[in-house]
Amino acid sequence: MAIVECAGLGKTYGRGPASVAALRGLDMTIDRGEFVALVGSSGSGKSTLLHILGAIERADEGHVEVAGVDLRTMDPTRAAVFRRTTVGLVYQFNNLIPTLTVRQNIVLPVRLAGKRPDPGELDRLVAALGIGDRMEALPSELSGGQQQRVAIARSVLYQPALLLADEPTGNLDRSSTADVLDLLETAHRDWGQTILLVTHDDEVAARAQRVLTMVDGRLVAEHR
Ligand code: ADP
Ligand code: MG
Repeated sequence: MAIVECAGLGKTYGRGPASVAALRGLDMTIDRGEFVALVGSSGSGKSTLLHILGAIERADEGHVEVAGVDLRTMDPTRAAVFRRTTVGLVYQFNNLIPTLTVRQNIVLPVRLAGKRPDPGELDRLVAALGIGDRMEALPSELSGGQQQRVAIARSVLYQPALLLADEPTGNLDRSSTADVLDLLETAHRDWGQTILLVTHDDEVAARAQRVLTMVDGRLVAEHR
């Protein structure tokens, strides 16, 4: 069953001669439980697509539906709820809340979604990520790689219908990259987490079930 459906999706920034068409008639379907990688050169529209799927930006042409919700006709109140309950976004540079501990950061989306964090799941997750002994620390007391693992744990624990990751390993060393990829794979395999992962690293993309390639705001080739 499809969880993401895009048809003829278009997005243009600005107006007139200075305008930039970031998406130009993009068609894409992702099934529930899939782990999909999205590759493509810089400026091809990958981040724009993720922002639209995460209801941070709005498309101006075509159709986009995520988890049965039409994102083009959704009002701002509904969009805020959608962002809090349905999607999880992970960026290259994590946006942890500096005044909250690691533990508080990780459980925040679960609590905002009105759920209780499962203590067993939380322990297993942070142990797998090697941050179990840093739970009461502040983000500033952690290395960059550890901070990124906290950001991933935060998005994975809450098990959003769709996890969107924009070059999450872009600024990590090999060992932190491996930890992050292992975690995404575990979430996909064990909990059926649906993942759309943007990367420019072919080795990272190879961990996904399906690789989509973007050129000039469209998907061009697909290889499994
Ligand atoms: P990618 O993530 O693949 O590098 P982006 O989606 O970030 O690509 O960008 C696609 C195109 O849209 C680029 O030409 C970029 O300069 C342009 N763009 C992205 N965001 C904005 C914005 N907020 N305002 C104007 N142009 C933008
Ligand atoms: Mg980008």
